[in-house]
Amino acid sequence: MIAKSADVLLVGAGAMSTTLGMLLKQLDPNINIVMVERLGHVAHESTDGWNNAGTGHAAYCELNYTPKKADGSIDTSKAFAINSAFEVSLQFWSYLVKQGALPKPENFIHATPHQSFVWGEDNVEFLRKRYEALSKSAQFADMEYSEDPHVLREWMPLIVENRDPMEPVAGTRVRYGADVDFGSLARNMSTHLEQQDNFELLLSNSVTDLEQQEDGLWQVELKNSKTGAERTITSRFVFLGAGGGALPLLQLSGIPEGDGYGGFPVSGQWLVCKKPEIVDKHLAKVYGLAPIGAPPMSVPHLDTRIISGQKALLFGPFAGFTTKFLKQGSMLDLPKSLRINNLVSMLSVGKNNMDLTRYLISEAMQSHEERVDSLRNFYPEAKNDDWELAEAGQRVQIIKKDEEKGGKLEFGTEVIASADHTLAALLGASPGASTAVNTMIDIVGRCFPERMATPEWQSKMKEMVPSYGESLPDNPELLKSVRQYTLSTLELD
Ligand SMILES: Cc1cc2nc3c(=O)[nH]c(=O)nc-3n(C[C@H](O)[C@H](O)[C@H](O)COP(=O)(O)OP(=O)(O)OC[C@H]3O[C@@H](n4cnc5c(N)ncnc54)[C@H](O)[C@@H]3O)c2cc1C
Repeated sequence: MIAKSADVLLVGAGAMSTTLGMLLKQLDPNINIVMVERLGHVAHESTDGWNNAGTGHAAYCELNYTPKKADGSIDTSKAFAINSAFEVSLQFWSYLVKQGALPKPENFIHATPHQSFVWGEDNVEFLRKRYEALSKSAQFADMEYSEDPHVLREWMPLIVENRDPMEPVAGTRVRYGADVDFGSLARNMSTHLEQQDNFELLLSNSVTDLEQQEDGLWQVELKNSKTGAERTITSRFVFLGAGGGALPLLQLSGIPEGDGYGGFPVSGQWLVCKKPEIVDKHLAKVYGLAPIGAPPMSVPHLDTRIISGQKALLFGPFAGFTTKFLKQGSMLDLPKSLRINNLVSMLSVGKNNMDLTRYLISEAMQSHEERVDSLRNFYPEAKNDDWELAEAGQRVQIIKKDEEKGGKLEFGTEVIASADHTLAALLGASPGASTAVNTMIDIVGRCFPERMATPEWQSKMKEMVPSYGESLPDNPELLKSVRQYTLSTLELD
């Protein structure tokens, strides 16, 4: 058996591991990193272009980030946090483009206005209040609002044409939203990493076990799916960036911080249209409101996508029930994740979320006609034959202990790190790849605290992310300058 040692072992080669690898290599070019991926390609699970919606989540258009409070006012806290986190991603990507570590922005990011659209009196009132609450701040000051069908027809012609003229409608727009091909971004980051000394990418290698030795180092077992060869890597720090595969690995690690966690897998599908005469009429990501009772990840949206230079429209997602944790995973993933320490949380989430399970099963059973009917709520003229169904990636929502209910289901992401800072895992799926840079900076801060405090790493962080250590909502001048820099560098304005 081949043995090898590393400073850092990245498990999985998606948006998260490649981002962490890029950050660490910039901070310390001598650091010895191995990245291990079970598939034969980089970023072919959730991070791949067609497996996610490619929305650069900045909270400009996603109405589920601004829920209505009991008193009828709008809770904007999540929107501000996500917007600030996305600004961090834009700064890091800009830095990498300027350094030549990433290719021209057109290879992975495209200016795509972010818009919201609602119909019906109550929903119009909600959108107006949301606009009023957000647009007071510098972060959302460029948001436009309209209830005028003529203006809305200019912003989103497919959606507004041929609607009932008596129905109240409203929309918002931020011009400099982004469509991101996260697959291309991750593959470009991986290509750059492979050109560096002390970096190795092992494809077609699955992590099958991991154990911490007495000296604190992790011994990680790999198996090559093509040759069957097994090898061991010993590493000071392990990052479980395995997407849906992170939970089983966290369980194998045995760290107590992982006790009680479970996963609720949700599959996804899109309707896709590639007909140029339709695609060319829509340049935006237009988000609506989720139907009542639907989970937050099924907010419908009609999006321009540009993947590998090809333009298309995407509508969805249609969430579905599954027991697989990865698109290329196994039906046994969910049952195999049951443990004594998560049984109560898993069973209580199962019991308390029967409606959600029923909803996911009913979504999965829909006919093509029914799916296009949902699209027709958005785009009244949509024709069945112009759209085809495509499989999206899997999301594994977090299940964790809850004192009152026994277990609760969460729709965000969470980093779980061992007390000795030698292992970290990322669970959950939203807001996902858009905020990967902020989340990975958080991991570097938590797991490399002494090195992060050194003047060298602090000044490098400032060079890569000029707003590092400062609050963008509290500093409008800084926000203005970083936005000018990122929007022009990434050609988003
Ligand atoms: C339907 C859908 C829509 C989404 N829309 C958006 C969006 O619009 N905007 C956004 O920002 N985010 C979105 N996301 C979320 C985003 O795609 C994810 O947050 C992000 O891609 C996760 O990256 P990752 O690196 O953690 O996981 P992944 O890309 O899944 O990568 C994990 C990798 O680990 C590998 N792996 C797993 N187990 C092992 C093992 N044992 N050994 C070795 N390798 C292993 C897998 O093969 C995989 O390549 C969406 C996700 C879905 C599913």
